[in-house]
Amino acid sequence: MGPSCFHHRATEIRSRFAPIAALPPDILNESVQEAMSAASAGSVIGQMIERAADGVARLLGFDPAYLFHGGTIRTLADFGQTKDAMLVKGQQIVALGRLADLRRAAPHGTVEIDLQGRTLLPGFVDPHMHIVASAGEMGFIDLSPPASGIYSIDYVENLLRAAIAKAPDKKTFILGAGIDPSQMVEWVNPTIDWFDRLFGNEDASQQNPVSLTAGSGHISFLNRTAMAMAEIDLANPPPLAGGKVATYFDGPNKGTASGVLVEMPAQKLMGKALKKSPRTLVWEFATLAGNLKKLFETAVANGNTMLNDAATGIAVGVTAERAILNAAMQAFGHPVRLGSASFIDEWGFPDSADLLISGSPDVSDPMFLKQAIKLFADGSNQGVTGLLREPYTAWGQDRVRQQYLGTNINGNMDINPQTLTQALAAAQRRGWQVMIHANGDGAIDNVLASFMEVDQQGLLNRNLRHRIEHCSILHDQQISDMVGLGLSPSFLIEHVVKWGPVLKKLLGDDRVQMLDRCKSVHDAGMPFSLHSDYTVGPLTPLKRVQDAVTRMTEGPDGGWVLNPAECVPIELALMAQTRFAAWQCHADTYVGTLEAGKMADLVILDDDPVRYANEGRAGDIAGIKVHSTWVNGREVYSREWFCAD
Ligand SMILES: [Zn+2]
Ligand SMILES: [Zn+2]
Repeated sequence: MGPSCFHHRATEIRSRFAPIAALPPDILNESVQEAMSAASAGSVIGQMIERAADGVARLLGFDPAYLFHGGTIRTLADFGQTKDAMLVKGQQIVALGRLADLRRAAPHGTVEIDLQGRTLLPGFVDPHMHIVASAGEMGFIDLSPPASGIYSIDYVENLLRAAIAKAPDKKTFILGAGIDPSQMVEWVNPTIDWFDRLFGNEDASQQNPVSLTAGSGHISFLNRTAMAMAEIDLANPPPLAGGKVATYFDGPNKGTASGVLVEMPAQKLMGKALKKSPRTLVWEFATLAGNLKKLFETAVANGNTMLNDAATGIAVGVTAERAILNAAMQAFGHPVRLGSASFIDEWGFPDSADLLISGSPDVSDPMFLKQAIKLFADGSNQGVTGLLREPYTAWGQDRVRQQYLGTNINGNMDINPQTLTQALAAAQRRGWQVMIHANGDGAIDNVLASFMEVDQQGLLNRNLRHRIEHCSILHDQQISDMVGLGLSPSFLIEHVVKWGPVLKKLLGDDRVQMLDRCKSVHDAGMPFSLHSDYTVGPLTPLKRVQDAVTRMTEGPDGGWVLNPAECVPIELALMAQTRFAAWQCHADTYVGTLEAGKMADLVILDDDPVRYANEGRAGDIAGIKVHSTWVNGREVYSREWFCAD
C-alpha cells in the first residue's frame, strides 16, 4: 500500500461482512462477544489477568504498586532525561526520582521490579494502523514479497495455482492480498489476460473468481469471473468519480476493462461480487475473533501499548466495528489502549456532508478514544496513483500505462478540492480531528488549499490537531503552510526503506529526496509521528525508530541512505513513536511520556536504543528484544511467560 491504505481491501471485507453490519445492535453485540470469548479461551491473551503478577492483589481489591529501578528509565518528556526509579500505583505513574526517596514514598506491599540493566520507556503508540480490516484480511492468500528469495510474478502464480487446486469448487472465491508489482524483479500487473493464461482458458465459467489486492491497498486485480460477478460490463466499464475501472490503454483490446480497479470508488464495485461469496456468518465471526486475538498479541509482544485505528468502519461500518472492538477489549482483557478515526465515505459527498460526518468525538473512555475522522485525497505513489504535481517518470508511466494509468500521468485525485473543503468544514463544525491520507505533493497541495479556505471562512479549529497521513512528498513551502495551519504529519517510514529504491525510479533522483522529511518538519516546529499502516507495514515500532534514524534502503537495489539530511536523532525518533504520536491521537494527557499523573503504559527493552545509536549501531535497533509490555499499570506481555531466560 502505498502507502498505504487499504481502501480496497477493506471494501472487499466490508462486502463480505455486510450481513454483520446489518444485524440489530443487541444481536450484534451478543454474537460478537460470544465469538470473542470463545477465541480468548485457552489463549495467552485471555489469561493475562490471571497470569499477571498483580492478579491476586486486584482480586483482593487493592491497587498493586510497583517500584521500577536498576536500569535506564527514559521519560522522553525531554531530551536526555533519565530517572533512577519510577513508582506506579494502580493504573498510574505516581512519581519518578531517586530510588531512596521513592522507597520511602512507596505504599506497604509495593513490589520492586529490578530492571537488571534493561531500559524502560513509555509504551509505543502506533498512530495509524487498521484493526478489523486487517483481521479480516488475515484469511487471504499472502502474496506479499517473501522475507528472503526472489519476488516475481512466478512466485505469485505458484501460490495462486496451489490455492486454485485446493479450492473445493469453481465457485470458491480466491482472495489474495499484499501483491506488490513494484517490488517484483520485473513489474507485472495481473490483468484479465494474465488470469486467462493462469487458468488456461477464457471461459469465465471455468475460472474461480479471483481478486488480488495490491499491497498498497489502492488497486485490485480481478479476473473475468470476478468482474462478471461484480456486474461490470467489460466492453463498457462505468465512469466513476474519484477512481476508475481501468481499461486497456492501447492495443487490440483498447477501451475494454483490463480487470484493474483503481482506488476506492472502483473497488466498491466489488461489493456485489463478494456478496455472492458462499462463506457463512459463523465462519466470519469465529475467524475474525481469532485473528483479532493474534493481532493484539503481536502488537503487545512488540511493545505497542496504544493502537490508533485509522479508518474504523471501513470494513463493516462504524457501529459494527466499534462493537467488535469493544467486545474484543473485554474478552481479551484490555490488552492495549485504542484510538480511532471513523471512516467517512467521502464519495457520498457533497450532498450530505454534515450528515455523513455525523455524531461527535467521544474521548470519555481513555482506553478507547473516538477522536477523529478519516478522509482520503489520493492513492499510492508506488502504485502510481499518488497525485503528483509533475508526472511520474517515463519509466514509471511505462510500468502501468497499458493496464491502468492511461493519461493520468500525475496520479489519481480521490477527492476533488471543493468536496474536500466541504468535508473539512463539516468536520470543524462537529469538532472532529481530521486524519487525511495524502501521498503525492499534488494531493498535499489540494489538502492545504482546502484547509486554507476553511481557515478563511473562520472555521478552522487548530486545537483539533488535524493530521496529514503519509505526507510522503513534501516541499519547503508546504511545510511552512502546514505550520501556519496547525497541521502535522504522520509518516510511513517504510516508504523510505522498503520502497525507496523503486520510488527513486518512479519519481526521479531529485523528487525522491523529498520523501518523509522528518528532520525538516521537526526543525520547522511541527511534531511528527511514525506509523505502521498495518497491514501495509508490520507492527514493529523499534524497526520504524531504526528506519527514521538510518533511512537505510533495503532490497536488491537498496543499501544506500535516502537523503541523510532527513535522518533524525534517536531520541526524536523515539518521541515520534511515543510522545508525539500520543499528542497526535489526543492521548497525550494519558500517555506518551513517563511523568507523574500519566497512565502507566510502559515497555521494558533488553537494551537501550539510545546507547545503540550513540555507539554507531543504529542499524541494530530493530533487533532489541521487548522484555515486557505494560498497559494501564498491568503487565500485558512478558517474554518470560514464553521462555525462562
Ligand atoms: Zn493511507
Ligand atoms: Zn492507512
